[in-house]
Amino acid sequence: MQIDEAREVRTTCPYCGVGCGVLAKVAADGQVTVRGDPDHPANFGRLCSKGSALAETIDLDGRLLHPEIHGRQTGWDEALDRVASTFSQTIAEHGPDAVAFYVSGQLLTEDYYVANKLMKGFIGSANIDTNSRLCMASSVAGHRRAFGSDTVPGNYEDLELADLIVLVGSNLAWCHPVLYQRIAAAREKRPEMKVVLVDPRRTMTSDIADLHLAIAPDGDVALFMGLLAYLGQHNALDRAYITAHTTGFGQALFAASKLDLAGIAAATGLSEDELVRFYSLFAATAKTVTVYSQGVNQSSSGTDKVNAIINCHLATGRIGKPGAGPFSVTGQPNAMGGREVGGMANMLAAHMEIENPEHRDRVQRFWKAPDIAEKPGLKAVDMFKAVADGRIKALWIMATNPVDSMPDADAVEAAIKACPFVVVSDVLASTDTVRHAHVRLPAAAWGEKDGTVTNSERRISRQRAFMAMPGEARPDWWIVAEVARRMGFTEAFSHVSPTELFAEHAALSGFENDGARDFDIGAYAAVDAQAYDALEPFQWPAPSPGAPLWPPEGDAWARRPEGPVRFFANGNFYTPDGKARFIAVRPTVETRTSPDYPLILNTGRVRDHWHTMTRTGKSSRLSQHIAEPFAEIHPADAQRFGIGDADIVRVSTVHGEALLRALVTARQRPGSVFVPMHWTDQFAARARVDALVAPITDAISGQPASKNGAARLERF
Ligand code: SF4
Repeated sequence: MQIDEAREVRTTCPYCGVGCGVLAKVAADGQVTVRGDPDHPANFGRLCSKGSALAETIDLDGRLLHPEIHGRQTGWDEALDRVASTFSQTIAEHGPDAVAFYVSGQLLTEDYYVANKLMKGFIGSANIDTNSRLCMASSVAGHRRAFGSDTVPGNYEDLELADLIVLVGSNLAWCHPVLYQRIAAAREKRPEMKVVLVDPRRTMTSDIADLHLAIAPDGDVALFMGLLAYLGQHNALDRAYITAHTTGFGQALFAASKLDLAGIAAATGLSEDELVRFYSLFAATAKTVTVYSQGVNQSSSGTDKVNAIINCHLATGRIGKPGAGPFSVTGQPNAMGGREVGGMANMLAAHMEIENPEHRDRVQRFWKAPDIAEKPGLKAVDMFKAVADGRIKALWIMATNPVDSMPDADAVEAAIKACPFVVVSDVLASTDTVRHAHVRLPAAAWGEKDGTVTNSERRISRQRAFMAMPGEARPDWWIVAEVARRMGFTEAFSHVSPTELFAEHAALSGFENDGARDFDIGAYAAVDAQAYDALEPFQWPAPSPGAPLWPPEGDAWARRPEGPVRFFANGNFYTPDGKARFIAVRPTVETRTSPDYPLILNTGRVRDHWHTMTRTGKSSRLSQHIAEPFAEIHPADAQRFGIGDADIVRVSTVHGEALLRALVTARQRPGSVFVPMHWTDQFAARARVDALVAPITDAISGQPASKNGAARLERF
């Protein structure tokens, strides 16, 4: 697009899944300023600390500006030819499953779409997975089991309309700050609104909670099974809804009823009094939203946790109604967009199923694809194991840093180092992953490229360029399409703009879609460059382009006249019989601690940093909030291990160790240690905490259990 430096450009924050609208402006001297977009329905002008500091993170220091092969600067033609020929040769010699793409929730939907199309339709393998696997794969799996589709039924507005918000495994105040602000503002207007926080730690989010349940790690399935049983025992079920719109209730209730209150108390580490306070509040409050995040998803029982929560909402008919529903909030800016295009190894494009022959046939015909992947590919943890044991011989990593962010990160680094051919497209020249690439491809960064992202409430917003691409940097979609053409797939990858990719993606979502599939933005298939440039944020399923989205003036928090899109308002789900499924889950609290590793290791985020700090680490303002990596330890454990506040401690697991500053606080649960995931060796020596995390995953979703490992502590 034409860069107009005189005006403010409407774009979207590249950090968390709230998806806040941002107004960016470039002054005549090149200085960039950002502010919240008052007209964006996710944030209505608000930004958190990370969003506010975006302008401090976009300098060219450390940028990868030219393609490189084995560290030698080269031109695009040679680099792209090398990638295409090596991938083609590897496929010819070893088959399509010998290659893989590891992509990212940081990619824009158009990037994601074209990468998925190349791998699943033209290479003929499903070996494309994403760092979103680490973020919300359990929610995807839980939705599909319950609803027959990966549908997030919640809207942000529901958080303001609810009388009870249950936050499970979510430090919303730090990880989705603008949503937290929206809840805080709503609560100020309606003090009768109640908030329950379910989290092993007392976090900043506790400030807003009427009840904090400091649950034992992975006690969530038992907690919500107990709730289901309580609802049954206290005449709090919506029997008419259950009969009309669901199946499997009897089995789920039977499984839940096997646990008595004492058993649930033992499994959750909560008192019976705390349990009854929560259960009675839930039972009595029709307008309840249960918000869940990584504390639910990042678990070996993550999918069961999601379904245990959804079971309680189905049992009370609290779904698809204003102020009621289960609501998974995504971590990354475009985790949802990735799901829409099928950017996960076990999904097909446009929310179609890779295991479904009709869906495969439909996608293959739409793409005019020579091969379509016939079975799910390798999920992230298994993908890097396949790299390690030599099954994958050519790997392309886009916009992510697995050497620092994958579980068992040292093993992942060793696998990448040993892989015969590694391509990395990134904006930076020297992340811990880029360093190991045979071919480095300079990608355009936030503010330099155009595309769309989808936030946690299914709202599609434009990211727009407001700066020129530096050096030879190019958008990821362009890089992938160029490689595809060089692999011989000329016609199918003839796109010359993100507009064309978005239109094709929209057309596929509406292709032979008679309402049997949830994701449908087919109304946008005819979008042209002008309409794409002017695209307003909209939620899917989309009524029509240009429909009014919210009042142009007036109360910033006002609702759209027609209200938000409501999935399941009519009780129709995407299963063959149109009914939602109860899942008879089982409480599976796994004890991983041992005499050698007696503490539970829990990883997570801090307020002012993002992922491996490649962007936020550039802002001294953001680094001031928490200046160094830490280990949060309960005073009793500190005493037990002879550790004082601010000591340097060694945190070890069977997989690795890190040196961190001890933060001794009663906010922590006894027996657990919390460590933030952001710091890498670039920012602090020996602080890569994902090197400590075991590569244990949920059997259904493949999501790693990053919040319940086993560790030991010692003073360094
Ligand atoms: Fe960006 Fe999330 Fe902060 Fe909004 S809440 S400004 S999307 S990091």
